[in-house]
Amino acid sequence: MASSNLLLPPAARRLDNKVALVTGGASGIGESTVRLLCRHGARVVVADIQDDKGEALCRELGGPAVAIFVHCDVSDESDVRKAVDAAVAAYGKLDVAFSNAGIVGSAMCSILETKKEDFERVVAVNLTGAFLVTKHAARVMVPAGQGSIVITASVCGVIGGMAPYAYTSTKHAVVGLCREAAAELGRHGVRVNCVSPYLVATALARQGVGTEDDEAVEAVAEAAANLKGVGLKTEDIAEAVLYLASDAGRYVSGHNLVVDGGVTVVNGSLGRQ
Ligand code: NAD
Repeated sequence: MASSNLLLPPAARRLDNKVALVTGGASGIGESTVRLLCRHGARVVVADIQDDKGEALCRELGGPAVAIFVHCDVSDESDVRKAVDAAVAAYGKLDVAFSNAGIVGSAMCSILETKKEDFERVVAVNLTGAFLVTKHAARVMVPAGQGSIVITASVCGVIGGMAPYAYTSTKHAVVGLCREAAAELGRHGVRVNCVSPYLVATALARQGVGTEDDEAVEAVAEAAANLKGVGLKTEDIAEAVLYLASDAGRYVSGHNLVVDGGVTVVNGSLGRQ
């Protein structure tokens, strides 16, 4: 898996002259996607609540000529408005919005033990946050007559039984948000899609699995995987986002691109073992 930050040669770049916003861009899937989009020539606004990590990433990538950091809590509309406006102010436009910030919330438990305030916090970040990013991206993309919005959903937005109530509920809900926005924004040339990863080692996944250790997450993922011996990496999700963001996906809208090695289309408890 290539991890270099080097700009690709012109012929290989798929996002030359494009401007992207990535929420939750300071770590995990968002960070890998920021790196890949920059390698493909995009200038990127990294929006996150982890200021130190986000600022360090932007410095490493080459500073404001390539990437700027904006503090943004996606559950706060004024923060999201400012992040979108920062892209336009710094780079003149917004072509790609990757709504990726997310939290898993409290540990998996019975619905009887699920607290309303915990549920609502996950809704505020995972669902309201995606709504706000989609809304404010549309605010600048519609007048431009083009744009690509990608929302991180999850395999937990396809099937149940894998995560806490709020997480599963919000990940199903953002697929609906994506479809509704694709229905409205298509006439304006704006595409809206989801990417839905299987379990991949990140801070969120470590919390979800209840470990400090990426290898433990990878072992859990491999044990339950349909596609064996490959091992999902954050860079694989970044490649899916790149496809949806770039002209390679120019006629794809309203789609949920599930990156799960087939986990959600097989049921291992019956039939083929
Ligand atoms: P991560 O914890 O590494 O990254 C999440 C990022 O979101 C962090 O940088 C965090 O600071 C940021 N964030 C959290 N709350 C925020 C807020 N209110 N405003 C702005 N930023 C905020 O985890 P990740 O796995 O890379 O998560 C990225 C997305 O991928 C999430 O939406 C998550 O639900 C989704 N996802 C992850 C997995 C997995 O197994 N890792 C699987 C499916 C979907």
